[in-house]
Amino acid sequence: MPHIAHYPIRTRGTFCGSIAHADPASEWCLVAAALDAEMAARSASGARLIPAADFFRGIMTTALREEELLTEVRLPILAVGHAAIASAIDEAIGIPGAVTQLPATPQRLKQIVERQS
Ligand SMILES: Cc1cc2nc3c(=O)[nH]c(=O)nc-3n(C[C@H](O)[C@H](O)[C@H](O)COP(=O)(O)OP(=O)(O)OC[C@H]3O[C@@H](n4cnc5c(N)ncnc54)[C@H](O)[C@@H]3O)c2cc1C
Repeated sequence: MPHIAHYPIRTRGTFCGSIAHADPASEWCLVAAALDAEMAARSASGARLIPAADFFRGIMTTALREEELLTEVRLPILAVGHAAIASAIDEAIGIPGAVTQLPATPQRLKQIVERQS
């Protein structure tokens, strides 16, 4: 989290807002797509779960219908002792490049975060 976007974006933007916005430069969209998240959409006529592969239709385009709100994003629980690491192609303009799951101790995570700072 401390590396996503600039401070004002990080503190004012919402998680579901970022996913619904579907900006291809968004870290949360990359994480949701890479980890096969499920999006919970709700409207007056009901609720549905949309897998990430179906949710993201293209640049700034999602499967949300006009009357639907994104109310929840379900991310899989990682294996014990694993962490998901997002790495940027271009940190200056915030283009995320890859997400991976790997075994990580708290010390190893600290090293990775320090290296990205
Ligand atoms: C200068 C700048 C730099 C940025 N840098 C980064 C970056 O480095 N990394 C990054 O990830 N992002 C970045 N962003 C994008 C930012 O993440 C998104 O603008 C923000 O996350 C959107 O969240 P929000 O809650 O403000 O949504 P809003 O701006 O309020 O909404 C965005 C869109 O989604 C819709 N929406 C919002 N919430 C929901 C919901 N619950 N259900 C359905 N539709 C909804 C709104 O109607 C609107 O169309 C940047 C944006 C700016 C302006």
